[in-house]
Amino acid sequence: MRFEYAPAPESRAIVTLRDSYGLFIGGSFTGGSSVFKTISPASEEVLAEVTHAGPEDVDRAVAAARQAYERTWSVMPGRERGKYLFRIARIIQERARELAVLETLDNGKPIRESRDVDVPLAAAHFFYHAGWADKLGYAGFGPSPRSLGVVGQVIPWNFPLLMLAWKVAPALACGNTVVLKPAETTPLTALLFAEICQQADLPPGVVNIVTGDGATGQALVAHPGIDKIAFTGSTEVGKEIARACAVSGKRLTLELGGKAANVVFDDAPVDQAVEGIVNGIFFNQGHVCCAGSRLLVQESVYDDVLAALRRRMGTLRLGDPLDKNTDVGAINSRAQLDKIGELVSSGEAEGAARWSAPCPLPDRGFWFAPTIFTEVSQAHRIAREEIFGPVLSVLTFRTPAEAIEKANNTPYGLSAGVWTEKGSLILWMASRLRAGVIWANTFNRFDPASPFGGYKESGFGREGGRHGLEAYLDVAGSADAAGSADA
Ligand code: NDP
Repeated sequence: MRFEYAPAPESRAIVTLRDSYGLFIGGSFTGGSSVFKTISPASEEVLAEVTHAGPEDVDRAVAAARQAYERTWSVMPGRERGKYLFRIARIIQERARELAVLETLDNGKPIRESRDVDVPLAAAHFFYHAGWADKLGYAGFGPSPRSLGVVGQVIPWNFPLLMLAWKVAPALACGNTVVLKPAETTPLTALLFAEICQQADLPPGVVNIVTGDGATGQALVAHPGIDKIAFTGSTEVGKEIARACAVSGKRLTLELGGKAANVVFDDAPVDQAVEGIVNGIFFNQGHVCCAGSRLLVQESVYDDVLAALRRRMGTLRLGDPLDKNTDVGAINSRAQLDKIGELVSSGEAEGAARWSAPCPLPDRGFWFAPTIFTEVSQAHRIAREEIFGPVLSVLTFRTPAEAIEKANNTPYGLSAGVWTEKGSLILWMASRLRAGVIWANTFNRFDPASPFGGYKESGFGREGGRHGLEAYLDVAGSADAAGSADA
C-alpha cells in the first residue's frame, strides 16, 4: 500500500549562507586564486561562491599546518588535545540541525539521512577519538607512539561532513595537523566545520581547509611538505595518487570504490532482507562506496524476494531532499547523473532487463529513479563497475560455494552482506568473502569503534577503531619526548 503524505519540509532558516567563502588557512578565512560556484543538485540554485585554491594557496596551508605541528600540536599533551576534540564533538551536536540542513542543500541527500546518520556519526567520530588522544600508549603500538606530521586529506562528495570527521578526528587525536580538500561539489559543511574549529578555539593551523577541484587535490598530494596522504574517492584517482606517493616516500591510505555483494539465502526472513537490500543500495541514492550494489539471491526464493523488492521500491518517495518524508534525494551532480545513465544504457544494451520504480521525477535538478536489473550476467559492466547510483544488479546462486565464487568475482573488496538465520552459515561465509567489512542480517551500519577499509582495488589502510589509529602514527618510531603523541 502506498500512503500519500503532506509535504513536511525542514526549514532552511537555520542556515546562514554567505555569498562567498574563503580558504581556511592558519585559523582564518583568506582569499585564493579564483572562485567557483556550488549549487544545490535538487534545484540547481547557486548556493554560494567558493574559493579555488591554487598551488601557492596549498603551499600556504601546508606551511601553516607545519608551524602549528611543530610549535603547538605535536608538543601538546594528549589529554589537552582530547579536550579540543571533545569540544568540537559537542559543538557539532549543538549545531547539528544547521549542519544537516546545509549538507542536504549542498549534497542533495535526504534530510532524514543527514540528520539521523551523517551528523550524529560525525560527532561520534570526534567523541571516540577524543577518548583515544591521551591513551595512545595503550593502543598496542608501543608505549609512546609518535605522530607523523602534516597530513593531506582528500575527500569525496558522498558524505562530505562524515568523511571529514573520519579523516580529521583520528589525525588530530594522534597529534598530526591537517590540510583537507573537500570535493568541488560539496564544500559547504567543511567550511562550516572551519567555523566550528574557530568556535572551539582550536590553535590556528591545526586544521586547514583548501577548497577546489582535482587540481587542488593534485597540488596537495604532490606537496613536498606533506608527510602522509589519506584519500577517499574513485579507484582511478586512487591509483594516480598511489603512483605520485610511491616516488615521494609519503605514507598513504586509500579508501576506494566497491561493488559489494549482498547475499540472500533461502532461509532469510524476506521482509527483513528486503529492507536490508533497499538500505544497501538506495541509502544516499547509492552514492556509497560500500553499497550493496550486487544482489545475490538463492534461486529457490528469487521470485518471492524480487516481488517483495519491487513492491517495496514502489513505496519509496523521491523528491525534495529537505522534506522529512523523502527517501531518495537528488543525484549529486550532472556529471554523476550522466555516468549513471551511461552505465544503465550499457546494461540495457548488453541484454539485462531493467525495471525502475514508478516515481515521478522533479523537473529541475538531477534525479534518477531507483532501478533494478535482472537477467544480469557476471560479465556485464553493470555487474562489474561501480555505478555509484540507485541501481541494483540482481544475480542468482544455488549453493553457498557458488555464492562465494560470484561474490568474490570482482576487482573490489570493500564490503559484503549475508542474510540467513544460520549462525554457522554466516561464519562460513564471512571467512570466505574477500571484503573488509561483512554485515550479517543488516547493511550499511557504521560505528567509529569499528575499522573500515578494503582489499584489492578497494584500497588499503583502515579508518575507525584501534586499527584506524595506526594510519596516523609512526608505529616504528622511538619513544623520544618530542612528537610523542601520548605525552
Ligand atoms: P574522485 O575520485 O575524482 O574525487 C574524490 C576526491 O579527489 C575529490 O575531492 C576530487 O576533487 C579529488 N581529486 C580528483 N582528482 C584528483 C587528483 N588527480 N589528485 C588528487 N585529488 C583528486 O571522484 P569523483 O567525484 O570524480 O567521482 C567519480 C567516480 O568515482 C564516481 O562516479 C564514483 O564511481 C567514484 N567515487 C567513489 C567514491 C568512493 O567512496 N568509493 C567516492 C566518490 C566517487 P574534485 O571533486 O574537486 O574534483
